[in-house]
Amino acid sequence: MSPINRKQTGLMSANMTNASDIDRELCTLCPRNCRVRREAGEYGYCRTGREYNIASIFMHRGEEPPVSGEAGICNVFFTHCNLQCVFCQNYQISQNKIEHPEYLTRLPEVVRQIEKLLDRGATGVGFVSPSHCIPQMRKIIRALRGRGRSPFFVMNTNGYDRKETIESLKEEIDLYLPDLKYMDSELAERYSGAPDYPEIAAEALKEMFRQKGSRLTTGRDGLSRPGLIIRHLILPGQVENSKACLRFIAEELSVEVHISLLAQYHPIPRVRDHPTLGRTLHREEYEEVREEMVRLGFQRGWVQELESHDSYLPDFNQANVFVGTGNGGVDEVN
Ligand code: SF4
Repeated sequence: MSPINRKQTGLMSANMTNASDIDRELCTLCPRNCRVRREAGEYGYCRTGREYNIASIFMHRGEEPPVSGEAGICNVFFTHCNLQCVFCQNYQISQNKIEHPEYLTRLPEVVRQIEKLLDRGATGVGFVSPSHCIPQMRKIIRALRGRGRSPFFVMNTNGYDRKETIESLKEEIDLYLPDLKYMDSELAERYSGAPDYPEIAAEALKEMFRQKGSRLTTGRDGLSRPGLIIRHLILPGQVENSKACLRFIAEELSVEVHISLLAQYHPIPRVRDHPTLGRTLHREEYEEVREEMVRLGFQRGWVQELESHDSYLPDFNQANVFVGTGNGGVDEVN
């Protein structure tokens, strides 16, 4: 992953949102607004109750430099998701039609595994796709703090979050790492079943920006503390959507925000025959989006190499999720 501006590499520079809420309320935790009693065993869109269904906890060195640092970040991958993107790179664990009882675990075991990686040098804990598991995420954070641990906490989210949920996380999340997937409602419906994604994500990102601003504060270890990094994955055939996402950030937030422009799109098996999603990015598409980024004045952040589509496809059937993909080193928890 290359910095946008090499001179400033990396360090350049609810209503129902409390942890206990799924224990007693109808779930409106995310924009799906299912209004089911998860505590009573009812499932909504995300098919997740109050349990800890976690596919993997491992040291990940392939994130943006201030996120991973040298040692890596302890990433916690929740199963299921409140978006069902047809091209999801984590499809093995994110599909709501699959139950994944093999990944059911308990809070003490989650904390034990995270602490093991903290003892191996991780200084941050990243929650990946936690939008439907905010109460579980909160309980993990509180349990770690209760044990005297003080890693920085990263929320690596798809951006489909209620603004109120983000407001409620102000004291718990140090670094927001949201996607901005779409600024095109029709595309958001076609690919993710969420036509309201553009306005929902816009409000969520504005709240993240309100909390963290565009500064990316770094400690002596080179790792970020409070901050915001917005990711955008360029999709094949959707250059105009990518440009619209960048324009939203430039016009509604700031060109000072750190951007992570991802070119790693790789077709998963179920879209291999799709007319556009069935291929990787063309160089012209990649260059056109990069040029828009420069034209808009972004100077902070990172751009993935076009060739990275072979390097970032996880395999949750392996103990080491990214082994064999060339995505840096990965330490297994055992
Ligand atoms: S968290 Fe799950 S059950 Fe709750 S509103 Fe979102 S999708 Fe529905």
